[in-house]
Amino acid sequence: MDADYDVVILGAGAAGLSAGLYTARAMMKTLIVECLGAGGQLMITDEIENYPGFPHGVKGPELSRDMEEQTLRFGAEIAYTEVEGLDDLDMPIKVVHTNDRDYTAKTIIIATGGAHDKLGVGGEDHFAGKGVSYCAVCDGNFFRGQDVVVIGGGDSAIDEGLYLSGIVNSVTVIHRRDELRATKLLQERAFHSPNVKFLWSHVVEEFVGNEILEAARVKDLKSGEVYDYPAAAAFIYVGFHPNTDYLKDKLDMDPQGHIYSDIHMRTSIPGVYACGDARAESTRQLGAAVGDGITAALAAYHYLGE
Ligand code: NAP
Repeated sequence: MDADYDVVILGAGAAGLSAGLYTARAMMKTLIVECLGAGGQLMITDEIENYPGFPHGVKGPELSRDMEEQTLRFGAEIAYTEVEGLDDLDMPIKVVHTNDRDYTAKTIIIATGGAHDKLGVGGEDHFAGKGVSYCAVCDGNFFRGQDVVVIGGGDSAIDEGLYLSGIVNSVTVIHRRDELRATKLLQERAFHSPNVKFLWSHVVEEFVGNEILEAARVKDLKSGEVYDYPAAAAFIYVGFHPNTDYLKDKLDMDPQGHIYSDIHMRTSIPGVYACGDARAESTRQLGAAVGDGITAALAAYHYLGE
């Protein structure tokens, strides 16, 4: 029995589309399985300034569309369905179970990326879609001219906070320390934005409101004071987790679920590769995801030739 595909790529974000471009151009029969739309995090990123070749920046959704078109032009196929699990990984023909059907493949490239973490406080689920959000680009416009908070102090929080500052009346960054983790350039921009404020050494204990979010109940870690800070919306950026739940016990992973891979993106099982944000030690940069995808594609190509 022959496999349906030379390679099945899981995920059509930057890493998966880059891998697919290379495998399809290498004449490998390629299927990309994607559960949402192609583009992954590109689709929820407004402006990208740090991807080489775009001196004036590029919009995430625009770059995503171009990457998808380029990959499909060389013959890669995309199936829009959810991966439920993998089987026979140590066999020459591996099985990908999806919501719709099973696919068989000689190699598998895992590029399922990750998602923003929840904060884990009261009201977070209750007000999801009613003020609590994890995507400024998707939801920012609903709060045009209003006062919002952003929780976190990393690149995501400051990047998205700056994006929101162009839409809303004011953005207050609530951070648990009195120093940001974000890169200096982003910090400088935030400090110079007239409508970006900071609540240093504060944590959110609860989200409160009636029908919709009205405030973040915050605690000042230095004084111990707890009070309600009014906010029409709260955008949460407190970290990121890999989308690898469907792989439990199938591959070597770190405790957070990032897949271990070597410099060729090879996982603990021959013929199975991991790239982009789903793998351990990822720098979580667009350029790195593209490079990972290409490296995985070349490794899969050489594996098939052996
Ligand atoms: P991150 O760097 O891990 O930052 C998470 C932030 O959330 C930290 O400031 C952390 O505080 C805070 N935090 C974590 N748990 C918390 C909790 N329970 N309560 C309150 N605050 C909490 O995550 P990220 O910002 O998503 O960035 C991840 C990676 O993606 C980084 O490598 C980043 O460079 C990259 N990235 C880059 C860009 C860009 O280049 N423009 C954009 C987005 C992401 P502490 O600082 O106290 O730990």
